[in-house]
Amino acid sequence: MINKTTLSTLATDPSCMDDYDPNAMSVVQARQFIQQFLSPVVATETASVRNSLGRVLAADIVSPSNVPNHNNSAMDGFAFKFSGHLKTLKVIGTAFAGKAFEGAVNPGECVKIMTGAVIPTGADTVVMQERIAIKSDRITLLDAPKQGLNVRLAGEDLKLGQTVLAKGHVMKPADLGLVASLGIGEVTVYHPLKVAFFSTGDELVSVGQPLDVGQIYDSNRYTLYGMLSRLNMQISDLGNIPDDPKLLEKTLLDAAENNDVVITSGGVSVGEADYMKALLAKHGQVLFWKINMKPGRPLAYGKIGKNNDKQAHYFGLPGNPVSAMVTFYQFVQPALQAISGAAYRPVPFFNVECADSIKKATGRTEFQRGILFEDMQDGHVVWKVKPLPNQGSGVLSSMSTANCFIVLDETVGNCEVGTSVRVQLLDSFI
Ligand code: AMP
Ligand code: MG
Repeated sequence: MINKTTLSTLATDPSCMDDYDPNAMSVVQARQFIQQFLSPVVATETASVRNSLGRVLAADIVSPSNVPNHNNSAMDGFAFKFSGHLKTLKVIGTAFAGKAFEGAVNPGECVKIMTGAVIPTGADTVVMQERIAIKSDRITLLDAPKQGLNVRLAGEDLKLGQTVLAKGHVMKPADLGLVASLGIGEVTVYHPLKVAFFSTGDELVSVGQPLDVGQIYDSNRYTLYGMLSRLNMQISDLGNIPDDPKLLEKTLLDAAENNDVVITSGGVSVGEADYMKALLAKHGQVLFWKINMKPGRPLAYGKIGKNNDKQAHYFGLPGNPVSAMVTFYQFVQPALQAISGAAYRPVPFFNVECADSIKKATGRTEFQRGILFEDMQDGHVVWKVKPLPNQGSGVLSSMSTANCFIVLDETVGNCEVGTSVRVQLLDSFI
C-alpha cells in the first residue's frame, strides 16, 4: 500500500517519497495513487425507477414487505395438507393467481391451484397436475410428494426489512424490476458527474472538414464520447484545440470551472507535454507519469481550477487512439466510478488458452487486443484467444475488431501456443 501524501507534494517535490518514481509507475501503483485523491460526489436527487437505470444509489433500498407476500404455488396442481398416508383427496375448490381460495383445506381434501395462487389455509404441499389421476371430484396421488413440495415461501426472494440494494449500487435492468417488485416507484441517486473533454493537437481536424497533408481526423473525442455515454455521465465535448497555449488555457479553465472532471487527449507525451505541463502546473497540481504498460505509457492525473475550493479532477490521456482507450478503461473509468459514488466493481479476468504465440517483453504490462473464439476440443466447445496481428497503439481498428484485452503482466514474457493467458472482455467495460 502507498503512503498517504498530498497531491501538491507529489507534483512539486516527487523525490520526497522514496517509493514514488513518476518515470516507472506500474499499472497497479498508478491506480492506487489516483484512488487516494478521489472523493465521491455528495449531491443526490430522486429518480423514477425507470430513470434510475445506470445511476448510482445514494441510499440503501430496504424491503418494505416480504416478496412474495404469501406462500404461493410454484406449479399448476392441487394443494393439500401433507400426510404420509392419504392417497386420495376430495377437490373442494380452486385457487387462482390473484384470486385466493377463501375456505380452509381439511385432511382428505385438496384445492385445484394455479401457479402463483396463494396456498389456502390448512394446505402446505402442492402436487403437480401431471402427478395425479382425477375421477369426478377425487384425485389420486401417483407417488408420495415431499412435504412443502412446489410451495414458494413468503419472503423467499426478499424479506421485510432486508437491505435489497446497497448505497453505491449501480442500477441494472434486474434492479429496476426488483425495486418495482417491492412497490417502490422512486429511488435516491447521486447527481451524475459532469465531465468535459477535448482533444489537443495542431494536426487534428474535425469530421466534416477536408484534410490537408499531415492532418488527421480527431477520433479520440468520438471514442471518449462513446465510453463516457455508457457510464451515464453528463458530458460536454469541447472540441479539438490546437497546440496554442492561450486557447488551451482558456479551454482548460472554463472546463474546470463548470465540471467535476476534465479529460484531454494528446499533449502529455515527452516533448509535447511542455505547454500542457506548464499550464497544468500554473492552475493546479498535476502528476505526469510514464507507466510500465503498452499501449498507453504517458498519463497525467491531478486537480485543476481557478480557486482551491472548487477544483476539477484532471486526466491527461495519450493521443494515440488505442492508448487513449486503454488508459481510459484502466485508470479513468474506475476513477470516475469512484467519484460517482459507485462501489468498487473490478472488471473480471479469466484465463484461456492462447491459440497463437504472443511476443511480449517482461517488465511492463501489455493490454493486447485479442479475439476470443469458440474451438472444438475432444467433441467439446472450448474458448480460446488469438491476439490481433497489428498491436500498434495507433491502430484503432484493432479495438473495433477485438472482443477482449489479453492482459499480460510485468512478469510475463513470450507466450507459446497453448499458454494460459488472462483476458478481460471488452463488453465488461460498459
Ligand atoms: P500526442 O500524444 O499528442 O503526442 O499524440 C500521439 C499520436 O496520436 C500522434 O500521432 C497524434 O497525431 C495522434 N493523436 C493525438 N490526438 C488524437 C486524436 N484526438 N485523434 C486521433 N489521433 C490523435
Ligand atoms: Mg499532440
